[in-house]
Amino acid sequence: MRVKNALSLCVRDVSQPMCCHGCLAILQTIIQNDLLDEYLANKSTVNPVVNND
Ligand SMILES: [Zn+2]
Repeated sequence: MRVKNALSLCVRDVSQPMCCHGCLAILQTIIQNDLLDEYLANKSTVNPVVNND
């Protein structure tokens, strides 16, 4: 478990932990396209695949 390079992104004034730069980039794109509501709705019903490398 590596935490020293922990990633996070501020979403609606809340710091959200990101598992990797890939997820960080995806979430930034979602926010830029104003799709956060859809993303959060999907996230609540779909378990993301976690790759621990
Ligand atoms: Zn990730």
